[in-house]
Amino acid sequence: MAVKSKAKKPAAKAKASPATKSAAKGTKYVYTWGAGRADGDGSMKPLLGGKGANLAEMTRIGLPVPPGFTVTTEVCTYFYANKKTYPASLQAQMEAGMANMEKIMGTKFGATEGMPLLVAVRSGARDSMPGMMDTILNLGLNDKSVLALSQATKNERFAWDCYRRFIQMYGDVVLGVQKRENEDHEPFETAIHEFKHEVYHADVEDSKLTAADQQELVKRFKALVKERTGKSFPDNPWDQLRGAAGAVFGSWMNDRANVYRRKYNIPTEWGTAVNVQAMVFGNTGDTSGSGVAFTRNPANGTDEFYGEFLINAQGEDVVAGVRTPEPVLKLKDQMPKSYAELLKVRATLEKHFKDVQDIEFTIQEGKLFMLQTRNGKRTAAAALKFSIDMVKEKLIDWQTAILRNPADQLEQLLAPIFDLNEVKKATVIATGLPAGPGAATGKIYFNADRSVQAAEKGEKVLLVRVETSPEDLRGMIAAEGILTARGGVSSHAALVARQMGKVCVCGAAAVHIDYEAKTATIAGQTFKEGDFLSIDGTSGTVYAGQIKTAPSEIIAGLLHGDKAAQATEKFKNYAQLMKWCSQATKLSVRTNADTPEQTQNAIAFGAVGIGLTRTEHMFFEGDRIDAMREMILADSLEARQTALAKLLPYQRDDFFGIFKALKGFPATIRFLDPPLHEFLPHAKEQQADLARKLGIPVEKIMSRVHELHEFNPMLGFRGCRLGIRYPEITAMQARAVFEAAADANKQGFKAKPEIMIPLVGFKKELDLQVELVHSVAKAVQAEKKTKIAYSVGTMIEIPRGALTADEIAETAEFFSFGTNDLTQTCLGMSRDDSGSFLPAYAESEIVKKNPFASIDQTGVGQLMQIAITKGRSKRPDIKLGICGEHGGDPDSVKFCHKIGLSYVSCSPYRVPVARLAAAQAAVSDLMAAKKK
Ligand code: ADP
Ligand code: MG
Ligand code: MG
Repeated sequence: MAVKSKAKKPAAKAKASPATKSAAKGTKYVYTWGAGRADGDGSMKPLLGGKGANLAEMTRIGLPVPPGFTVTTEVCTYFYANKKTYPASLQAQMEAGMANMEKIMGTKFGATEGMPLLVAVRSGARDSMPGMMDTILNLGLNDKSVLALSQATKNERFAWDCYRRFIQMYGDVVLGVQKRENEDHEPFETAIHEFKHEVYHADVEDSKLTAADQQELVKRFKALVKERTGKSFPDNPWDQLRGAAGAVFGSWMNDRANVYRRKYNIPTEWGTAVNVQAMVFGNTGDTSGSGVAFTRNPANGTDEFYGEFLINAQGEDVVAGVRTPEPVLKLKDQMPKSYAELLKVRATLEKHFKDVQDIEFTIQEGKLFMLQTRNGKRTAAAALKFSIDMVKEKLIDWQTAILRNPADQLEQLLAPIFDLNEVKKATVIATGLPAGPGAATGKIYFNADRSVQAAEKGEKVLLVRVETSPEDLRGMIAAEGILTARGGVSSHAALVARQMGKVCVCGAAAVHIDYEAKTATIAGQTFKEGDFLSIDGTSGTVYAGQIKTAPSEIIAGLLHGDKAAQATEKFKNYAQLMKWCSQATKLSVRTNADTPEQTQNAIAFGAVGIGLTRTEHMFFEGDRIDAMREMILADSLEARQTALAKLLPYQRDDFFGIFKALKGFPATIRFLDPPLHEFLPHAKEQQADLARKLGIPVEKIMSRVHELHEFNPMLGFRGCRLGIRYPEITAMQARAVFEAAADANKQGFKAKPEIMIPLVGFKKELDLQVELVHSVAKAVQAEKKTKIAYSVGTMIEIPRGALTADEIAETAEFFSFGTNDLTQTCLGMSRDDSGSFLPAYAESEIVKKNPFASIDQTGVGQLMQIAITKGRSKRPDIKLGICGEHGGDPDSVKFCHKIGLSYVSCSPYRVPVARLAAAQAAVSDLMAAKKK
């Protein structure tokens, strides 16, 4: 693998000058930063990981970052490719990195006299993976250097606190001293608990523990390690460091990381980097502390400094929920100088990164240190507000604003909120932090497994936990919403909810959970597992019982014309974003709709026509199904025509309604597609019913059902095969379309029908059907004395159709890719039967995404490209679209843009998502072109 780094180029040319010696010998595996200089920069995330790249970047722009070095992701790749070993030159490069750090800090790693250099060992994948990897602090301590630390800082309690924390973290993460199945708590926590009760007869706070107490705990912890692992705790700092680095690489493949990567489609090959950084200390006393913050509010988008801080604390204390942190704004009174400095950093970061940052910092005796920055995870609502505000502030342009709104999150904005009238009647039983906006109501479950089981049974679930940890991820995915009793805005629950777009209320202290009894007591009421609660993640409110939900402001404003909703900031921001999308887009968005109402909704969402009307859906309504059944059961052409004549007015009315709703936009109408047996009753009683209605013997129905039974209906008597065998069906449908179009024209809304023949694999199939359609068109136009603007085309949905698209294009005026069937037939996988093996395929990464949800670009996509090239060779201006479910999937939409389709079509509620994705594809092209 080639290393694309600025640092390598000169090294490759230069001959072994001492400074570049290690790099010249081979690959540069270690990148250092500190004292205003860095080997790497923010653009090198693939190689340095997100954390390492941004530490380098912050150093470069002059922010106070403790020095350190990054071991690259290539070492992780090497590690897994070479039986968990390291490149030979790594040790020497790490030693050089360490020497650089020692020089800047003026301390020595593992020193037993004077101030020792302690380091943090931090993982860092390309994209941050919250809670997946474990950081180890205070590394380098042993029985001797702890004394040196104590002497140098004149702070004995602090020194032993650091040492105790180090053994605990290292013991857990690296040496695997963890909770066993029969244990309720982590063994180190148990040891602390026992100690406190022995000495203080109570659960005193950690800060009450004396130096001697911490020293005693160190002794007990080491004994615990020995007992559990059979080995002594490593004394040698370099052994400690190598062990920690190995654990970071090892954690790349642990279960939690695998679950997370699958959910977010992160390839295993990326690997993680390891950052080794000089420690700074937030736990030296009351002038120190540690915090996390967002430069703006990531839940609702408000422009306010937003975060949490703990005095006299180290590392994960803030997010661990052990002590409740204070809002970062309080620092203003407590440490005014540091606070002013932080505000400056906030401004610098936003100006430099041009996006909202999620930062971690530590204050050591009044001095501020930056430990991390990254683009803040945000809810869809916050993303929308950030993007619009930042255009106003001239931080970004409107094209960038389009890219700042993740298309797959946009649906969150359309999610229901609680019905205002219902909420007034509901009882508020608790409040917490509004961590994930939206409204959720469901049955409560107290653990992840039971939540998953309940959700699988179709229940709406609220996961209720004291606090969540990565083990709860599956349950969080399954739940409608998450409620926690402890933890702040940077707790695991809040972080994950923000990213997944889950409704979440966290830190609702009034919720008292008893895991054993499976109950939650809130405001004097006891709720059992399975009882209903409702949470509002926009306000942080918890309600007893179930509450009806109402449409979001955007739905109310767009679809119901609600004036109050249209006046909200959220609605206006959404409208602005969509306006920009229209300005940017190349690909237009149509909808799949079978009724006038669906059509109206889609148009309100910005669709510019119908890409697919499934005519058969209309046959199920009311008593038309009887006429349909009569047609299927008919013995003769005449009998069939009689039945079809009954269907004609229904179809005509349906089409008329759709044309009217379309206001002049085109409608692609697909002729009858599904196998006929789908329309017949299969249960005995229903068959008897139908026999009575039609006045025929029930045996006749039974035998017809039997006749039509197919072993493989997906590949059976369906699509244009129906119209070829029974041309009168096609003729009736064509007549219904044209008569409706003629009527619509007369009433002043121009109808633009595009008749689509399904499942074509042979040109001749299409020829026969098209001839028929044209002859009906001619007849109707003559009868009605009007001209109808129509076209006839086909679906490309079986491989033979794609491969012979040049022949087919001689007849077809347009192609619409039916990617559902095209995926089924290209992959040889039935969508309905794939549930039994697709999850296993995803697990082994045979398929990265469900091919029925997101286009298989290399396989199915190739067939599409063949069809496009061949189709255009015969008909250069052929209209190209897609009408499979994929039309609403952002990645598939981007793919459709890339291969040059003119429109995508998706269900009405996906239209905004598709519009955003289409605009993003166009903007990305534009930006790539600009770069060149
Ligand atoms: P995560 O990826 O889980 O956020 P980090 O590597 O950022 O893990 O470390 C977690 C926390 O540990 C940080 O927020 C910070 O408080 C603390 N920490 C990390 N590096 C240092 C350091 N060099 N000095 C002091 N504290 C550190
Ligand atoms: Mg961090
Ligand atoms: Mg199909």
